Amino acid sequence: MTLFDSPSFKNHEGVFSFFDEKTGLKAIIAVHSTSRGPAVGGCRMWNYGSSAEALEDVLRLSRGMSYKNAVADLEMGGGKSVIIGDARTQKSPELFRAFGRAIDTLGGIYYSAEDVGVSVEDIMYAREETEYVVGLSGGKEASGDPSPVTAEGVFRSTLVAAKRLWKQDDLNGLTIAVQGSAGHVGAYLSEKLHKAGARLVMTDINEAALRQIAEKTNAEVVAPDAIYDVQADIYAPCALGATLNEQTLPRLKCKAVVGAANNQLATPEIGERLFKAGVLYAPDYVVNAGGIINVASEMKARQTGGAYDPQWVEGKLVGLMQTVDEIFARSEAEGRPTHEIADSIAEARIAEGQCRIGLRREAA
Ligand code: NAD
Repeated sequence: MTLFDSPSFKNHEGVFSFFDEKTGLKAIIAVHSTSRGPAVGGCRMWNYGSSAEALEDVLRLSRGMSYKNAVADLEMGGGKSVIIGDARTQKSPELFRAFGRAIDTLGGIYYSAEDVGVSVEDIMYAREETEYVVGLSGGKEASGDPSPVTAEGVFRSTLVAAKRLWKQDDLNGLTIAVQGSAGHVGAYLSEKLHKAGARLVMTDINEAALRQIAEKTNAEVVAPDAIYDVQADIYAPCALGATLNEQTLPRLKCKAVVGAANNQLATPEIGERLFKAGVLYAPDYVVNAGGIINVASEMKARQTGGAYDPQWVEGKLVGLMQTVDEIFARSEAEGRPTHEIADSIAEARIAEGQCRIGLRREAA
């Protein structure tokens, strides 16, 4: 399959392949949209079965970043990069320096950061060759671990859902089933939900860490697969993608789904079925955008010579919650699933801008 025929191509502004003989670097950088600002999205290092598989993945992820950055109202477009290789055995400082030089050739239309298989340390090597990377470990602009901010966004979205469904300002009397409660986001989120009055039922495959967080939050623990059968008001997926699927849907008893995991819907049809079943699904890329908002503060600081600004992050989180509420309200008023409303908000915001690659000069 060629690039333009790929079902994931979806109007990417630019797709760039890089090869470095000395280090063996094989990388693809996909820039979906620069209409709201430079494309920002992490770099994933993965042992893809073929370069076609790597291309599909980078295109899908890159478009996802455009949508996430737009709904979070950030002055950033969407892009992503992949390095083809085994992150356990094929990493080297020189590989990431070469990757940094690759990014640098794009002159700032794409900023990279960490993702699966790529650490802050790796990105620091790329930084030696380019200024177009974010998610760094030091300096006044550094934004640090995004997980607490992601958890805060998911927590506040849970409150927005509770207000809409149960007309209450806290989580008293509600049972929440948290999947991945021992993870970076899951643990912060569980503590917040517990403090707001929710009764928690949780699971994780990391048993030692699970026991710790369960004790701290007075939670009931269930086996990983049993989480779908819990009699809960809200299901909070914070581990894997695609847990809302043909098999789990008939088992879920909740009235709302609000969690941090990416790509929760196995297919868009599942979103439709949740809607028809009266389950309020909080679109994943909207409610988990706290982390990218945190990174955006670092970008802004870099561009203006300022520092990481927690107040700016707070302002963006407040705006994000207004968007979550708007999505719920429009879904009800228009009789359409929430994931469709979120996409249409993102698409409208992307269409407002003007791309920076220079091919399209007129405003859309
Ligand atoms: P993490 O790896 O720290 O946490 C995931 C947790 O899920 C781990 O504790 C793991 O043991 C557990 N887990 C894995 N498989 C499981 C299973 N089958 N059943 C139950 N538990 C299982 O990752 P994280 O950073 O906390 O991210 C969690 C999710 O949120 C991911 O989907 C990630 O893509 C998404 N996300 C994270 C951020 C962030 O800021 N970290 C931002 C946006 C989206």
